[in-house]
Amino acid sequence: MLLIGNGRLVTRDLENPFFENGGILICDESIKEVGDYVQMKQKYPEAEFVDAKGGVIMPGLINTHEHIYSAMARGISIKGYHPNGFLDILDGMWWKIDRHLTLEQTKQSAMATYIDCIKNGVTTVFDHHASYGSIRESLFKIEEAAKASGIRSCLCYEVSDRDGEAKMKDGVAENVDFIKHALADTSDMVAGMMGLHASFTLSDQTLSFCAENKPERVGYHIHVAEGIEDLYDSLKKYGKRIIDRLMDHDILGEQTFAAHCIYVNQHEMDVLKETNTMVVHNPESNMGNACGCPPTMEIFNKGILTGLGTDGYTHDMIESYKVANILHKHHLCDANAAWSEVPVMLFENNAKIANRYFKKPLGILKEGAAADVIILDYIPLTPMNANNVNGHILFGMTGRSIITTIANGIILMKDRKLTQIDEEQALAKVREEAEKLWNCI
Ligand SMILES: [Zn+2]
Repeated sequence: MLLIGNGRLVTRDLENPFFENGGILICDESIKEVGDYVQMKQKYPEAEFVDAKGGVIMPGLINTHEHIYSAMARGISIKGYHPNGFLDILDGMWWKIDRHLTLEQTKQSAMATYIDCIKNGVTTVFDHHASYGSIRESLFKIEEAAKASGIRSCLCYEVSDRDGEAKMKDGVAENVDFIKHALADTSDMVAGMMGLHASFTLSDQTLSFCAENKPERVGYHIHVAEGIEDLYDSLKKYGKRIIDRLMDHDILGEQTFAAHCIYVNQHEMDVLKETNTMVVHNPESNMGNACGCPPTMEIFNKGILTGLGTDGYTHDMIESYKVANILHKHHLCDANAAWSEVPVMLFENNAKIANRYFKKPLGILKEGAAADVIILDYIPLTPMNANNVNGHILFGMTGRSIITTIANGIILMKDRKLTQIDEEQALAKVREEAEKLWNCI
């Protein structure tokens, strides 16, 4: 038993949202009790104590769109790379990297990403993986890193026609094998989906092949209208907009993620809503790739389940929150925009999205929920209460405020020291593999 206490507790449970001095009792992988710390300390004197030292205790964060394969791009320099638009960014940078990744480099990219997730308090990750140099077994290599680091993961391989039919089929097979493996797993720590790159790199035949092979009970994870080129391609080749094309291929639905959705119109939003498809917004990536600002506030306000991801740009969900908050104010010239929508996306919707793939309640601290808890070293300089928690997070905290991360009842980082991984050794290995990768590109 673990007792976490001695800090301001933010539960995200509407019945008891905030405790000035809260405590959480963890038994194995679940939360057993949430309440007043002083009372709980008396009630459970034998529990191992995790001291929040007057900081803030919150549920572990969830990232609903991540790219482990991009980890080794940090600091890279590719000769002749001067992108003129989004397609050049994909072809000149990301596809170049993923075509050279070995299985070991995929695993080390995952270790690097998971270490950063732990440090940023992210305990659940939905990843979208590509490694066209080594497709088969790649998701299983990522799972090895997920298990070593203790992060709950939903994985998929990015199927695309971009490197020919044989590799497309390998991508589908990798998804199918991993989905079956994950469906048979009872730990509630791993899940799988059918990953698709984007409409413009997927022929009708390929989409049919994916549908024929996809196991039941899981959906698709696909980039939708991230660049205007994706929309033009769909209109030109198929005479329809992307969401209509995906609808015709039975890709939409309550188990499916549509990442980005920048160039979608009102009709497409209606279809997303009608099919209960999930949308994930990635503000920094969209800005960094100069792709345009998605109509996320409209999508959200239509009642489409909209979450927040990072697209590999960062692993810090609080950073993503900060940027989404100002991006939409700036874009809409509306100082009232995004205040309430973005925290709902991060704290409520990401949990709802995650719970379409994982059984135990996530993103909430209450009896029976997953024991995913983080502690931040934040001491408020103004009064903090149930009504203004998000203002304190937005303006006072960052991912690096997190000092302790617990996932599935296991302490992964305590007082900023990783407990399950030798960080120095692990990162030395990552750097070694990154250098090998850079030398091939
Ligand atoms: Zn992405």
